[in-house]
Amino acid sequence: MRGHDVGHVAEEKGARRLTVAIDGPAGVGKSTVAKLLASQLGYLYLDTGALYRAMAWALIESGRDPADAEAVAALLPTLSLQMQFHHGTAMVLVNGRDVTGELRTPEVSAAASTVSAVPAVRAWLLPIQRQIGQGGAVVAEGRDMGTKVFPSADVKFFLEADPNVRAQRRHRELVTAGHSGPFEETSADLASRDTRDRSRAIAPLVPAEDARHIDTSNLSATEVVDQMMAVIAAKL
Ligand code: C5P
Repeated sequence: MRGHDVGHVAEEKGARRLTVAIDGPAGVGKSTVAKLLASQLGYLYLDTGALYRAMAWALIESGRDPADAEAVAALLPTLSLQMQFHHGTAMVLVNGRDVTGELRTPEVSAAASTVSAVPAVRAWLLPIQRQIGQGGAVVAEGRDMGTKVFPSADVKFFLEADPNVRAQRRHRELVTAGHSGPFEETSADLASRDTRDRSRAIAPLVPAEDARHIDTSNLSATEVVDQMMAVIAAKL
């Protein structure tokens, strides 16, 4: 999985190859800070949401209902999902097709949130995520990094922010990406995704007991990364 990955290894001689776990709800700024942090550390950035999104993309493409656990489970044996890394940028391939640019639409977001509650999907994606994170020097971002996927991560962060701030951030992202609907729609989508992510039976969105909480409502991405680096520096 990491075979194509170039130049992500910590540059400082003797530095430890830490596993950094970042969790939190949508729109909290996880991806932005995880990317910045990974680049400052020279680590791999692992966006696990992209794997759930790729799964959702495959289901939509095959005409299956992401809420139909049996239909979803039937797709898994036929599915090949790969994440390839080139100079810090990840490419997601579904059955050999590059779908990276098609993963951030509202339709895929909603389907990803639904399909992520299917136990067979979480079990299927678990070894893929661990394999990518194997060896450390990774900043892994998602909903269950600190609790399930990398429970013994060296450093764990849980990001939070005011729901209205999160909806505004997500709306700006969508507008920039050309997928804009009304703000109210973005806000409602985010709220229902949150509820699903927090209330599902397996691997719900909850902070790990040993996670450090950061409220990003009034912080820039750089300020969040600075706070994280202060914690990480002590462990390197
Ligand atoms: O982080 P992102 O918004 O790209 O994730 C899309 C969806 O994938 C989330 O709403 C969540 O339901 C699911 N997800 C998850 N566990 C992860 C990462 C994402 O359940 N580790």
